[in-house]
Amino acid sequence: MAYAIQAVYFVAAVLFIYGLKQMSSPRTARRGIVWAGVGMFMAVVVTFFHPGLHGVGNYVLMFVAIAIGGGLALVTGKRVAMTDMPQMIALYNGMGGGAAAAIAALELIRHAPMTLTVQIIAVLGALIGTVAFSGSLIAFAKLQGLQRKAVRYPRQQVVNMAVFAVSVALGVVVAFSGAGYSDAVLVFFFFLALAAGVMMTLPIGGADMPVVISLFNALTGLAVGFEGFVLGNPAMMIAGIVVGAAGTLLTQLMARAMNRSLAKVLFSDFGGAAAQETGGSAEGHLKPIEANDAGAMLAYADKVIIVPGYGMAVAQAQHKIWELAELLAERGVTVKFAIHPVAGRMPGHMNVLLAEAGVPYDMILDLDEINNEFVSADVALVIGANDVTNPAARTNPDSPIYGMPILNVDKAKNVIVIKRGQGTGFSGVENPLFYADNTRMLYGDGQRVAGELIQAVKSM
Ligand code: NDP
Repeated sequence: MAYAIQAVYFVAAVLFIYGLKQMSSPRTARRGIVWAGVGMFMAVVVTFFHPGLHGVGNYVLMFVAIAIGGGLALVTGKRVAMTDMPQMIALYNGMGGGAAAAIAALELIRHAPMTLTVQIIAVLGALIGTVAFSGSLIAFAKLQGLQRKAVRYPRQQVVNMAVFAVSVALGVVVAFSGAGYSDAVLVFFFFLALAAGVMMTLPIGGADMPVVISLFNALTGLAVGFEGFVLGNPAMMIAGIVVGAAGTLLTQLMARAMNRSLAKVLFSDFGGAAAQETGGSAEGHLKPIEANDAGAMLAYADKVIIVPGYGMAVAQAQHKIWELAELLAERGVTVKFAIHPVAGRMPGHMNVLLAEAGVPYDMILDLDEINNEFVSADVALVIGANDVTNPAARTNPDSPIYGMPILNVDKAKNVIVIKRGQGTGFSGVENPLFYADNTRMLYGDGQRVAGELIQAVKSM
């Protein structure tokens, strides 16, 4: 029986890796999710037959927990809007980290006999899982708008480092004292780790949240992998390592997209409190344009670059925008889509929406591929993008987004920006692009305005 169980865990682990491989392309990603889900289902079912559970397994509690957790996941997963995905991911990351920390807490509070190596790994998993748990909850609150974006006070990093250092010191005591540590030390260790996660995440704001979310994703994976090692559960170990590795790569990609090191995201007072509060400023005035005139500019252009952002996702305007692009292409206009790595609210957000609308992959270009092309574009059509087009990132050292690579939209001959009003982007800063001489503002909901542009182009 034990061999059969290990074999099923092994197959589940292979399915996790196969699923992840499939997720590397948008064409196969959906299938990848299903295969990874099958692996997880197998791992959960076979755990009920694990010899370690005989005599101690509380099957009723297990069923109730799975029913509550699975039910909530099913409902929230089906209901969540694409634009709310980051907070859901933050919440689920937190749950994963919390679950790993809970396993460690249980093993440590009952002073389970462990070798030194296992005990060190249990404590490491507990620390990382707890930090990921409380930090993710703060990230969730920020993304959900329940909590102010960046909370800062003097000497904050010193206080944060002190809290973290004491929790690490207590962890060392627990890890190296066999079964001889006191429960009070253990409780204090978990309490400080919880506080460290909260305090570390509070000051992070601006446009840095994608880096933080992927970092907690990586930490959760690592914590689950460590606790899998403690329990001797290969499926858990491999699932954790896979998530940890994928999360680490994603963190690197996001940090590179923001042109910021992880240390800077976590430990610097990015942009300064003053810039956060004022949101920067821009000179000049906003110049509105009507859909008919904008349609004419597009219809008689040689080259148009479309720049989608979070607002396109809110408006669900991707289908209309693709219809507009097809119309323009039929008229002989060269049309391309420019995607910033952190556009929208989750990595790959815009790619997913454009793929859903049927935009061919070869028309969708990354920042590095397209940035030199803006100078030769007659029109850059920005729909619901703001931060990722903000030239202050290049020119204003006081801006909270200074240093982040942006799409060079301002270099196009003409810029048309579709947005509803004067709303700022996620980072809350003013965008000088909207006030530039070559920019016209086309106000309204993205989907409605895209429809009006279609009518305007058709009537030419
Ligand atoms: P922004 O959030 O900077 O701007 C979106 C703009 O869309 C707003 O200015 C808003 O203006 C407009 N808008 C909102 N609703 C509509 C609508 N229905 N129709 C038309 N326009 C609309 O988006 P970007 O994509 O440019 O930048 C993404 C930001 O989110 C970055 O700061 C990034 O760091 C951050 N982020 C990214 C994550 C990721 O993984 N990609 C995760 C978390 C955060 P108005 O209100 O006037 O309409």
